[in-house]
Amino acid sequence: MSDYKIKKLISGDEIQIRAKEMGRKIAGDFEGRPIHVVVVQLGAWMFGADLIKNIPTNQLTLDSIQLSSYKGDTESCGLVTVVRDLVRRVKGQDVLVVEDIVDTGRTISELQKNLKRRGAASVQVATMLNKQDGREIDFEPDYVGFEIQDCFVIGYGLDYQERFRNLPYVAEMVFC
Ligand code: 5GP
Repeated sequence: MSDYKIKKLISGDEIQIRAKEMGRKIAGDFEGRPIHVVVVQLGAWMFGADLIKNIPTNQLTLDSIQLSSYKGDTESCGLVTVVRDLVRRVKGQDVLVVEDIVDTGRTISELQKNLKRRGAASVQVATMLNKQDGREIDFEPDYVGFEIQDCFVIGYGLDYQERFRNLPYVAEMVFC
């Protein structure tokens, strides 16, 4: 691994506060309808846990999916594949996908198409981070935790070569 510095960007406390706000907004928007949450692994599991705790409803069901779009480095390879699939059917469900970060938009738009092909009634997206400057596909998440600059981030579920997912905050990884 080349030399790097870690620059803290968003604290765990800030993420918790934002997750509370987003959870309240989502609950209000769904107005008591069942919400089927699909957490995108591995990056979104930490934020996903924060978010679902803050959606006050007894109508929430949960599943996860693991996708691959990065080749284990800092660049997307552009090809999105399902590494570990859903367990439950999404047919007829109002799905809320929870993502760690939307960058080019390829991964999430492929997943959205995939879930619609399987018969989901609707697919909305909540992302912890949004890198608007990295966008290559026309895609807008429905719920955004934080807008960030076009830099490579780690922590709070996000990895670099499978490491740093356990950092309790989001940081920029600066390569020297
Ligand atoms: P997209 O398809 O929108 O370009 O990228 C989405 C996926 O790429 C995310 O779910 C995440 O796994 C990964 N990704 C995008 N940007 C970053 C980043 O800055 N840091 C890390 N660790 N992963 C990223």
